[in-house]
This record gives sequence, structure tokens and C-alpha cells, in this order.
Amino acid sequence: MEKLIACCGLDCSVCDARNATIQNDDDLRKATAEKWQKMYNAPDITPETINCTGCRVEGVKFSHCLQCEIRKCADTKGYVTCGECPELDGCQIVAGVHKFMPEALQNLKHLN
Ligand code: SF4
Ligand code: SF4
Repeated sequence: MEKLIACCGLDCSVCDARNATIQNDDDLRKATAEKWQKMYNAPDITPETINCTGCRVEGVKFSHCLQCEIRKCADTKGYVTCGECPELDGCQIVAGVHKFMPEALQNLKHLN
């Protein structure tokens, strides 16, 4: 379970991209692409791009998560997640996620 908490604290186990990948479910890929296109105003998100095993799990990554600044930052600093970082409480990078998904911050706090 803990392996499925992303660097930012999001729970990859409930992510539609991961579930579509694990279940190889093309209907869920299509529905997720349509939802995320609107949500993120990102026309480049097509059903074919909906493939991801999870932020910290071996395997394919959704393109936006592969390029994620939070993931890169934690990796560069040698942390498994932002939960290990002493700068977490004031960090403006990860705050962008926690503003909309406060449960992600709680997930990080529970990892420690
Ligand atoms: S890393 Fe993958 S599984 Fe986790 S939130 Fe991003 S797209 Fe979903
Ligand atoms: S500086 Fe911010 S984004 Fe980088 S590892 Fe620390 S909490 Fe995460």
C-alpha cells in the first residue's frame, strides 16, 4: 500500500490511469482521457496515453507524472517521497497539489 503513495502524497491505488492499466481496460482509458482532457485543459491526453503503474512503482508512467516537478525534486534530493523532506511544510512546489488535494498531505504525514 505505501508503495502506492506518490512522491506528492497522492494515492495511486485509486487513480483511474493505474486501474485502467492494471485491468487493461480500454473503456476506462477512454473515460479517463476525456475527463482529464477537460480537467487539465490538455488535448494531448488521449486514451493511448493512459498507462501508468504508479509514481513509485516499476513500470510505465503517465507522461505528465513522468515529467512531474515534485517527483523530479524528491528524486534529486534523494527522498522516496516529500514526506521525508524538511522543507515540506513551506514548499510551494508540492503546495500546488495539496491545495486541491489536502488528503495527499495527510498521506505523507502518515508515512512517517
Ligand atoms: S503516478 Fe500514475 S498512478 Fe500515480 S497519480 Fe500519476 S498517473 Fe496516477
Ligand atoms: S522541496 Fe518540495 S517538492 Fe522538493 S522534495 Fe521537498 S517537499 Fe518535495
